[in-house]
Amino acid sequence: MSKNKSVEHKWKTKLKPIINLGTDTGKMGHAMICMNSNPEFSRYPDAAPDDGVCDQWVHTNTDTASVLCSNCVQRLMQRSPNRVEPNEIDD
Ligand SMILES: [Zn+2]
Repeated sequence: MSKNKSVEHKWKTKLKPIINLGTDTGKMGHAMICMNSNPEFSRYPDAAPDDGVCDQWVHTNTDTASVLCSNCVQRLMQRSPNRVEPNEIDD
């Protein structure tokens, strides 16, 4: 897999309640901010919201380097369907 050589950005992470099918499980899970929270470092800046930056948190594995939230994935599909790399999508 070819890596983008540009700046590696360290994305913010936090613990976030795990909601399963609308039900709060009472557990906390590792989450990461959507990469379009900072489109300058995003690999898919053209999928950012029209009104600014994305502020969605997505549950990820602790070794995930970056994540695109499902809202941005949908926009990406609409705007440039050929650019999606499924292994980078994790929601
Ligand atoms: Zn997003």
